[in-house]
Amino acid sequence: MIELEGLTKRYGEKVAVNNLTFTVRPGMVTGFLGPNGAGKSTTMRMMLGLDRPTAGHVRIDGKRYEQLKDPLTYMGALLDAKAMHGGRSAYNHLLCLAQSNGIARKRVDEVLDTVGLTAVARKKAKGFSLGMGQRLGIAGALLGDPRILMFDEPVNGLDPEGIHWIRHLMKSLAAQGRTVFVSSHLMSEMALTADHLVVIGQGRLLADTSMADFIARNSRSYVRIRTPQRERLLDVLHGAGITVVETGNGTLEVDGGKSELIGELAAQHQLVLHELSPQQASLEEAFMQLTAESVEYHAHTDAPAPRPWGDDWKRG
Ligand code: ADP
Ligand code: MG
Repeated sequence: MIELEGLTKRYGEKVAVNNLTFTVRPGMVTGFLGPNGAGKSTTMRMMLGLDRPTAGHVRIDGKRYEQLKDPLTYMGALLDAKAMHGGRSAYNHLLCLAQSNGIARKRVDEVLDTVGLTAVARKKAKGFSLGMGQRLGIAGALLGDPRILMFDEPVNGLDPEGIHWIRHLMKSLAAQGRTVFVSSHLMSEMALTADHLVVIGQGRLLADTSMADFIARNSRSYVRIRTPQRERLLDVLHGAGITVVETGNGTLEVDGGKSELIGELAAQHQLVLHELSPQQASLEEAFMQLTAESVEYHAHTDAPAPRPWGDDWKRG
């Protein structure tokens, strides 16, 4: 379990991370979502004790990072995959890491096997593709068999096979009861991987919610209707026990996938429809609306965007 309390990081005038308080729990994948520059990497560096907070603190199972004995056996992280000892073989890179952290040599073979690099273990890492480099970074994170794992944008630049592999790995690590914390700037990626979702924008916490709840609230399917015979259609739909929402812009919306039923009712009553279209609200749109409010310089609008997700799971 990782607990952040009022975590803040300033670089001069710039507040990169602004008073973040949330908890990352074991046994699930927690997605850390935010646009580029939101403060994800800075937060993760502070969680790993690599950067000092301006204010607030991080507790790892109740302890500060400095109080952990053998930190690599507690927490493993994939940060910037480019930071690699290119001249060394994959095997030697991991062996050095193991030896300087009191980890048994046989773990090197085990993690190479886990990430599928056994066949190229003696090859120099600088000849590795991005995907192989990423796998080597993950091998390093797994080396100490830690209960907590952090991955900063692990799928960036990977091919579909590599992306699939990483998703599967994160889920299986969580299924083993570990704490898995993974960042991304892509909602679509989080929707496929994360059980829980923490969203930040401009260093601030925007949402802390279960993924299922986020999806239930934001991927609503509905039917959009336009008709010149609004009042009569409303009577017919109400008469059939169908709940209709009148939107501000002259269209009607009915929850769920009832377009056939609505079309047939309209035909029976000889009503003209100008539109009868099934719609699906997208998670990506919900994420963009959520974070747009935190973007400093965006086009002026007269009124704030409506929040289809409601406010009850929103914090900060
Ligand atoms: P993310 O990982 O979400 O893309 P970062 O944590 O990398 O965001 O950056 C958050 C903000 O902090 C950005 O505006 C970035 O420019 C700034 N920042 C990050 N590291 C430094 C640094 N060492 N010095 C000054 N500003 C920084
Ligand atoms: Mg980053």
